[in-house]
Amino acid sequence: MSQVKKRVKWNRVFGAATLMVSMAVILIAWIIPNPEQESENLTHPGMSLAEQSLVFEEDQMEDESHEPSVEIAAEVDDVVEEILPCACNRTSLKLTGNPYSAHQKAARNLPNSFFVKNVSELNAGKQRKKLVPVSDGIGYHIAPLQHSHAYLLPEVKSLLEDMGVAFANELIGTPSEGTTFRVTSMTRTGDQQEKLGRKNVNAIGESSTHSYGASFDIAFTDRPNNNADCSDPTWAIQRVIQSFQNSGRILVVPESGCIHITLRP
Ligand SMILES: [Zn+2]
Repeated sequence: MSQVKKRVKWNRVFGAATLMVSMAVILIAWIIPNPEQESENLTHPGMSLAEQSLVFEEDQMEDESHEPSVEIAAEVDDVVEEILPCACNRTSLKLTGNPYSAHQKAARNLPNSFFVKNVSELNAGKQRKKLVPVSDGIGYHIAPLQHSHAYLLPEVKSLLEDMGVAFANELIGTPSEGTTFRVTSMTRTGDQQEKLGRKNVNAIGESSTHSYGASFDIAFTDRPNNNADCSDPTWAIQRVIQSFQNSGRILVVPESGCIHITLRP
């Protein structure tokens, strides 16, 4: 009995060992990559590894010689094309101001002018076409407005257009041709004016002429390129403002950051 039992045990040991060996062989085959398969993945037909690395380097060089150089050129262009604005304020221009009370009187007496107290008054004015939208035109452009709306009384919009054309004409044939003046403020509601109240000399509650759609501010002239310095655009805007003022069409307040302009009735 004991001999039979021993034989059975040896069979089991042999079976277990065979199983373990075959599992180990499978495991090793799975872990170690097949050299032939590996070389198939890497080797281009008819090309040594050295040749492949050359091609790879050439590809890289081709990339470097094209795309990055375009990016560098764009950056250089940006730097070259950076154009500083020319200031348009009481320091840079020689202008005689009109008393602000005269501006207020003019604003109140313009046809169809009304005090734009808040946004709903503004919207009512838009609907009745008492205030008209203003966008970029010949000789001028509108800055992104944070404290006012790009609306004016129709007569004031016409004034702005006329001043733009006059300014553009001043620079025709000069290296500064194409320069436009920058309008930085138009119609402010009474609510907007109150928020600015303590920063702006002219922002005295109801009395601001901006709250009547009667005024706009010019703060800079912007040149199309760096072909010339600021002298021509600065002289040009000064001549335009003076001539409109002398002909009795506008009132002017030269401020520290801009020129405030109001249409006269
Ligand atoms: Zn102003």
